Parts: sequence; structure tokens; C-alpha cells
Amino acid sequence: MTISAGESPTSASPAPTSAPRSVIDRAATDTPSRTAAEPRATLAGKVIVLDPGHNGDNARHLSEISKPVNAGGFEKPCNTEGTGTAGGYSEATFNWEVAKLLAAKLRASDAKVILTRPSNTGWGPCIDERGLIADRNHADLLLSIHADGSLAAYRGFYLMSPARRRGYTGTTAAPSRRAAVAVRDAMVASGFRPADYVASRGLWLRSDLGTLNRAGTPAIMIECGNMRNPRDAATMTSRAGRAKIAAALYDGIVRYLRRAD
Ligand code: ZN
Repeated sequence: MTISAGESPTSASPAPTSAPRSVIDRAATDTPSRTAAEPRATLAGKVIVLDPGHNGDNARHLSEISKPVNAGGFEKPCNTEGTGTAGGYSEATFNWEVAKLLAAKLRASDAKVILTRPSNTGWGPCIDERGLIADRNHADLLLSIHADGSLAAYRGFYLMSPARRRGYTGTTAAPSRRAAVAVRDAMVASGFRPADYVASRGLWLRSDLGTLNRAGTPAIMIECGNMRNPRDAATMTSRAGRAKIAAALYDGIVRYLRRAD
């Protein structure tokens, strides 16, 4: 099941070009994260699929989520439970909260945003379906949002993009890699550290990720940090930390889309 974005409040009643200057000025300040000197990005006509990894009730539906699906020419389980912090804040909830913040920012720039699940309750959808949602909607980019669960000593984020896989990612591997670089660079510019335990400078080419393999569009996955690391967890469990992550992801998507035009 998918949710299609409604138009954002700022785009519902655009200021006419003949409007008095004060009206235009007020509209321009409706997006609080932008300054007057930095024009709002226009993403009109762009379709972004946001995939908040896992789901809040996956753990109560283990038989359903263990069903094998086509992950790109091989089988993997439909879905997994995801991880969580030592304090019990679940990855599914983190992914959902960041996706909501990011969706709002993208919609405020007039992008069409589609989420792969409508809420943080229930189970699924399966990893193949998450990718196929991007395919069916001819997305400009699919961003799958996750957080890792590794040893407590390890820190940092990393981006994954699909390796070339004939019949699946033959034409999307290269633009996906460019999107991963753009989002990696935006995360670094926002002060986040690339992972110190996996990937290479925050980038990892993967052939085993069903959501990316089935997207049929440029598609990337981020592990925003290691939930088992106390410092990463402190960022991820705080509202301000999630807002900072969402802002960096937004900047990365804008960087990628501008270069893709
Ligand atoms: Zn995950």
C-alpha cells in the first residue's frame, strides 16, 4: 500500500507574479530552513519514493515476513525486524520519523513524494514491493532509510547503491552511485561521520539488496548511523538529531537531482 503526496501548503496557493511584493516576501519565508539569500529548491515534476525500512509490527508477523521473495534473480525473506538502540528505540520507528520529516521538506519544494508504507504499524511491505513502488511510479530516486545495529564501538553512516545486475540494475547502477555520492557528500557537509567499520568513505556497492535491485529506477539505501553506538543513538533518539539527518538527506537529494537534469 502506498501513500501519494498531497500538494504542500506552500504550493496550494502560489503567489501570483503580479502579487504585491509583501505577499511574495511572505511566501518566500514560509520555508523556515531557508534564508532569504538562498532560494528554495524547486523540485516540481520530480518523484521521490521514500522507503522507511522495516515496519513497527514486523516482529509480531515473523511467519509473514519470512516468506521468500525475488530480490533480483535470487530469493531473500520478505522483510526483517530491524534493529534498535540499547534503550529500546526501534529502527522501524527511527526510519519512519526521518521519512516523515524528509517527506515534508521535499513536498515543500513541490516534489511528489511517495512512501512505501502508510504508517509505523503493521508489517511489510516486502523488500521487492518496496522497490517495485519506485518502478511503477517512474521515480527519479528511491531512498531507503535505515539504521544499523553493529558493535557498540563502531560509528557512522554509509550509503549503499546497487551493483550492475543484468535484467535488474543494468541502467540504474551508475545514476544510483551518483546519488549515493551526492547524499554522502551532503551528510559529511552537515557534520556526520562516514562509517568507521564498513564501506569505503561512506559508500558501498551491493548486489544483494532486493529493494535496490527491484526498483528499476535510481535507488540508494542509507544506514544513518549505528543504533548500538551510544553517540550515534543519542543523535537518532533526539528530535533535533533526526531533523538534522532529514535536512542533510534533503540537501543530498537536491544535489543529485540538480546534477541529473
Ligand atoms: Zn534496517
